[in-house]
Amino acid sequence: MSNTTNEDLQGTLAPTSDSLTYHPTLREANITRQREWDTGNQMTLSYSGNELAGEVGEAIEAAAYHSFKPTAVTKANLADELGDVVICCDLLAMRYDIPLPLPPHPLAVPFDREILFAVLVDLAIAAGAVSNIVKKLEREAIGMKGSRSTPGHLADALDTVLVEANDIAARSGLVLADCVASKFNATSEKVGLKTRLLSVESRDGD
Ligand SMILES: [Mg+2]
Repeated sequence: MSNTTNEDLQGTLAPTSDSLTYHPTLREANITRQREWDTGNQMTLSYSGNELAGEVGEAIEAAAYHSFKPTAVTKANLADELGDVVICCDLLAMRYDIPLPLPPHPLAVPFDREILFAVLVDLAIAAGAVSNIVKKLEREAIGMKGSRSTPGHLADALDTVLVEANDIAARSGLVLADCVASKFNATSEKVGLKTRLLSVESRDGD
């Protein structure tokens, strides 16, 4: 359930439809919306890392709940949370100009809760790896001693998050790219931002 109140939305008047901007890729839409949303450019690497960890937690909760009590509402909630996960992965990747297209949509897979839960564990592990890399990048930025990481490691870890999210979507009867576009636009509308996403880029073939 949304915590947004009418009071929260005061001063964020919805834009008129002719002022909306439409973007053909998630990266382009994320770059444009961040300029619109984070007007002071204050979002830090740690903020974005924390944001992704939060969304992964919500997605795991939504997937587990949907697997036991599947309804149209639980499926829509899972779609939203998986969309958030991908959007937040891309926000981290764009800090280092890391391309992050979605994996291809897998062939239909039969529902199996045991396998699904194994994939949820894999998603949690991948998200933990991202957090660990973000910590090391921040550590280097502030000059603290300790082990280091690289944007290349971040790219690999973010890609693993996408692979697991894609698998969870397919096992739940969802198409991840559709989840992303739908949630991106719903958030823009909710917050009163003009940026809209038309489609989400996928990798070819693999
Ligand atoms: Mg969320």
